[in-house]
Amino acid sequence: MEDRIKLSESEKKVVLVIHGGAGAIKKQNMTAELEEAYHNKLKESLEAGYAVLQDKGSSLDAVQAAIIVMENSHLFNAGKGSVFTNAETIEMDASIMDGKTLQAGAIASVTTIKNPIIGAREVMDHSNHVMLVGRGADDFARMRNIELAPLSYFYTQRRFDAMKKIQSGKDTQQYYGSEDEAGNEKMGTVGAVAIDVGGNISAGTSTGGMTNKRYGRAGDTPIIGSGTYANNNTCGVSATGHGEHFIRNVVCYDISAQMEYGDKSLRYASNQIINEKLKKCGGDGGVIGLDANGNVSMPFNTLGMYRGYITEEGEVKTFIYKN
Ligand code: ASP
Repeated sequence: MEDRIKLSESEKKVVLVIHGGAGAIKKQNMTAELEEAYHNKLKESLEAGYAVLQDKGSSLDAVQAAIIVMENSHLFNAGKGSVFTNAETIEMDASIMDGKTLQAGAIASVTTIKNPIIGAREVMDHSNHVMLVGRGADDFARMRNIELAPLSYFYTQRRFDAMKKIQSGKDTQQYYGSEDEAGNEKMGTVGAVAIDVGGNISAGTSTGGMTNKRYGRAGDTPIIGSGTYANNNTCGVSATGHGEHFIRNVVCYDISAQMEYGDKSLRYASNQIINEKLKKCGGDGGVIGLDANGNVSMPFNTLGMYRGYITEEGEVKTFIYKN
């Protein structure tokens, strides 16, 4: 039996944990200003979610608030900063899950929703379905009066050039994680997991996917169990990484299942799948997770992962590299 004394990366009870993507984040590529910009945006996201929790709001609302901050920033590959497909389009995926009811909502390949996490939440709260895709999801968002945005809003020259660079190379079918502001290749998806005063855990994830992905491709982010999972009895988890591997390994549910059936801790279970199983099959990426006691875990098998958490007392910690 594993050691159950030190379960967490934090000694304090964590109420919200977030990520802004994992990948080959090299310190030598970064400037001090850029590092600061990432830390500040992660902090802003944590504080937005924390304000909801302090107000006795639900973990669902906290997750949503934290993700919106990152979706509205060009620093991350989600919402505004989304990458381009091989058809020069933007196609975004998102999902959200309520650990109390096991209700979930997801959207895939949407092109007009300014904040995809809101779209996912609307599917959960106002439809009889779990997942809507493509035009149907965009139409549903319009019907629900969710804020939409034109392609010009999502357009960033750097992202467009990254897609063009692959297409002018030897392997035009290749697709990879977005590049961040420093040219680091990383995945860029954003995610959050929170626990509220009622002990309810929620998780959400949002992404533009991978640069030069085939149009119509959906990754793990909108797939409940692969990119997002929450269950009050175990944990909440949000993933970032090479989506095809995360789908095949049903990563987020695997962590919950190890806890439920195998009596493993969150820390053990999440390390097991990220640093053992996924590493062996070349599945780059990481997860963030929170269990019912506020233990946090943030393993990744890449050089870095933009990530951070906030404790019950409001203490914020943000990280980029392996520490
Ligand atoms: N998991 C996402 C996908 O495959 C990419 C990412 O995490 O950045 O679409």
